[in-house]
Amino acid sequence: MKDRKRVLITGAAGFLGSHLCDRFIREDYHVIAMDNLITGRLKNIEHLFRLENFEFYHHDVSKFIHVPGRLDYILHFASPASPIDYLKIPIQTLKVGSLGTHNCLGLAKAKGARILVASTSEVYGDPAVHPQTEDYWGNVNPIGPRGVYDEAKRFQEAMTMAYHTFHGLETRIVRIFNTYGPRMRLNDGRVLPAFIGQALRGEDLTIFGDGSQTRSFCYVDDLIEGIYRLLLSDYHLPVNIGNPDEITILDFAREIIKLTDSDQKLIMKELPVNDPKQRQPDITKAKELLGWEPKVPRSEGLKRTYAYFKSLSREELYETEH
Ligand code: NAD
Ligand code: UDP
Repeated sequence: MKDRKRVLITGAAGFLGSHLCDRFIREDYHVIAMDNLITGRLKNIEHLFRLENFEFYHHDVSKFIHVPGRLDYILHFASPASPIDYLKIPIQTLKVGSLGTHNCLGLAKAKGARILVASTSEVYGDPAVHPQTEDYWGNVNPIGPRGVYDEAKRFQEAMTMAYHTFHGLETRIVRIFNTYGPRMRLNDGRVLPAFIGQALRGEDLTIFGDGSQTRSFCYVDDLIEGIYRLLLSDYHLPVNIGNPDEITILDFAREIIKLTDSDQKLIMKELPVNDPKQRQPDITKAKELLGWEPKVPRSEGLKRTYAYFKSLSREELYETEH
């Protein structure tokens, strides 16, 4: 058997995890995928099951993780990621960010593996600094509805840094900004699948608040490239990966109406509590350290994503629970 590098990917059946699996398979790694399928779907990685260098473990990483054999890298991506998901399962979200991270770090230490953890722009909360640089400490309400996700991720970063400092573990922290692309769940509540799903079903698009809040959307292939480069770099402090092209949610809705060639109306709904007003990554560090910047403009990324959503079956389009 070929002696490949061995990587464990947690959250492998999710949106980002499944794209990471594809990338590491393409790079000829042995990929060990792990997921408890709480928000992910096997369909995202089914095409890899026949490969000799791919294996899948159905496991909750908040419980002790056992993986036989050598491990060179761990990418810890298990966690609900959309606001409606983590509001539905707040305790599991806190556990996977804390206990799950601790288990992954312990495993990395036992195996002598390098670990990269998936952090988020949410560590900046509703940011008072714009665009967000890595040295900004954030503005998070720990007991607000989003606190279960934001604080779990902040704890994750603290724990990862502690393993680096006290155990000399090789660690990487990526702060991911809003990312989109094929394999997002149509009903996961995030703004892009929400808008495209509504347009495809002939429903009006729901703008939360007045739509003046901003986000900056990164196409998934760009994000995966940034993560791959960060993993192989020698930099252990957090790095923002995202696309700085910022847009208001109202303008984004208009882009989706145009993209889908629909004549749906925009309707205003109440803004969720603690919804960040603006978000844009400062990617100077990623550019300088990794030679990375996003390449796929939103117009192109949206076309590719729409093609994916259009290919879904009628059942998937009207599915309310995953
Ligand atoms: P996702 O929900 O599609 O994927 C998460 C995966 O983790 C799912 O397959 C889920 O079943 C699995 N999972 C959750 N808890 C688990 C547990 N206890 N044990 C094992 N598996 C578990 O979400 P995503 O968008 O792919 O996000 C992946 C990671 O990236 C998350 O850690 C998220 O916080 C981070 N992130 C994503 C974004 C984004 O825009 N997509 C932005 C910032 C950070
Ligand atoms: N949003 C919206 N309509 C929807 C879903 C979301 O206006 O149907 C808004 C939401 O309030 C937020 C932005 O879109 O301001 C991005 O929301 P998402 O859940 O995608 O990500 P996050 O808030 O975590 O960045």
